[in-house]
Amino acid sequence: MSPTILTIATRNAHKAQEIAAMLPPHFTVRTLADYPELPDVEETGTTFAENAALKACGISAALPGMVLADDSGLCVDALGGAPGVYSARYAGEHGNDAANNAKLLADLAALPATTAPAARFMCAMYLAEGGQIKAEFIGKVEGHITASPAGEHGFGYDPLFVPAGYTCTMAELAAEQKNRISHRADALRQFLAYITS
Ligand code: IMP
Repeated sequence: MSPTILTIATRNAHKAQEIAAMLPPHFTVRTLADYPELPDVEETGTTFAENAALKACGISAALPGMVLADDSGLCVDALGGAPGVYSARYAGEHGNDAANNAKLLADLAALPATTAPAARFMCAMYLAEGGQIKAEFIGKVEGHITASPAGEHGFGYDPLFVPAGYTCTMAELAAEQKNRISHRADALRQFLAYITS
């Protein structure tokens, strides 16, 4: 396979690390950390797909080569799909995982008692080049929310999310295990099938 440069349109180091770990070695991965001068693309969409498309188009218009943008988050049925596209800033401050998790538990505690509230992680991934969308990949993983956080791995809502078929949280799984079952892995497998077809 000839070397392929791929820019992951994120400043989230956890996301970039997970995606890089799942890509075959002929990919040379860059992230927005390599382009500090680029302005952030505003995530003004109302869906993961809209936000991923905005990031993919905006960043690929400014950089050479292929750009892969991921917009992802947690959707809890009992909360009408929240935090959804607001996952990163659910408690107000962007990327404050502890505050987001505390708010999620508080919001669930305010509802009539439900055991194991159903939830899923969603990932919309868009591939773009020269400001044009080339393909869309949608990944998900079903599960439920635990009563209290557990585990040290991963990031975001991982300590509260128990994947379907598991008895531990995503944050209790080793990185390699998460990367086999996650919403991001699901989308990335579709990307790899597309790119090698
Ligand atoms: P984005 O950077 O706008 O796509 O926001 C992603 C947010 O969704 C993160 O800050 C996390 O709160 C949440 N999220 C996305 N993917 C994951 C994951 O794999 N584990 C835990 N939380 C995630």
